[in-house]
Amino acid sequence: MAQAAVATETQAGRHQEVGHKSLLQSDDLYQYILETSVYPREPEAMKELREITANHPWNIMTTSADEGQFLNMLLKLINAKNTMEIGVYTGYSLLATALALPDDGKILAMDINKENYELGLPVIEKAGVAHKIEFKEGPALPVLDQMVAEGKYDGAYDFIFVDADKDNYLNYHKRLIDLVKVGGVIGYDNTLWNGSVVAPPDAPLRKYVRYYRDFVLELNKALAADPRIEICQLPVGDGITLCRRLS
Ligand code: SAM
Ligand code: CA
Repeated sequence: MAQAAVATETQAGRHQEVGHKSLLQSDDLYQYILETSVYPREPEAMKELREITANHPWNIMTTSADEGQFLNMLLKLINAKNTMEIGVYTGYSLLATALALPDDGKILAMDINKENYELGLPVIEKAGVAHKIEFKEGPALPVLDQMVAEGKYDGAYDFIFVDADKDNYLNYHKRLIDLVKVGGVIGYDNTLWNGSVVAPPDAPLRKYVRYYRDFVLELNKALAADPRIEICQLPVGDGITLCRRLS
């Protein structure tokens, strides 16, 4: 193997610092999960996309391989067909979703940045699942407002994955609760926010971690108190809270 290819493989195979370090007993344990149960079963297209993303300067944002595997399994378990994703980046969670849906499944995918989506798009096309995706470039909130106002999307979604601007999660929730079907699931990502949800006030946190922390704390409280949903917060990736709509 050429030197560059070896470097890419190593970089892509190592887990990211943010997201996992503080959430599991040890880094080694997490690496064990990846190497034992995740990488050996990772679809070729997802591996390729993960490796492309590993070379991108913002790769810290990508969904981890174990979370991709989890999402893929969850979507199959709930027989999801019509889904939405807010926050696409290069499309790792999007591809995990697209591969899980039936051939006539649909994903409304939104991101303010189309360039990063286009970086991963050739891999998604090669995997034969691009026809399931409708990508909308721009902020998600006005799109959701429009959909709620139109009324025809009420209860239309089996699954919605939210992985974008954390300071808007509660605004998203206000709209998504109408758009997800009763019995459907909204997944809010990064709800453990690199473990910072339990950090003491004077802890040395990166600037962006500190900034969004209060929003994540507020979200977690609000979801736990929302009688319209059942919740389950899982320490997968950087923490994902699944919300099942009750009424
Ligand atoms: N799910 C992605 C993956 O698997 O790689 C990671 C998403 S990344 C953590 C967050 C994304 O949210 C970024 O690509 C960013 O451009 C997007 N974003 C930020 N603000 C947004 C907004 N208001 N509406 C839609 N997307 C937004
Ligand atoms: Ca995330």
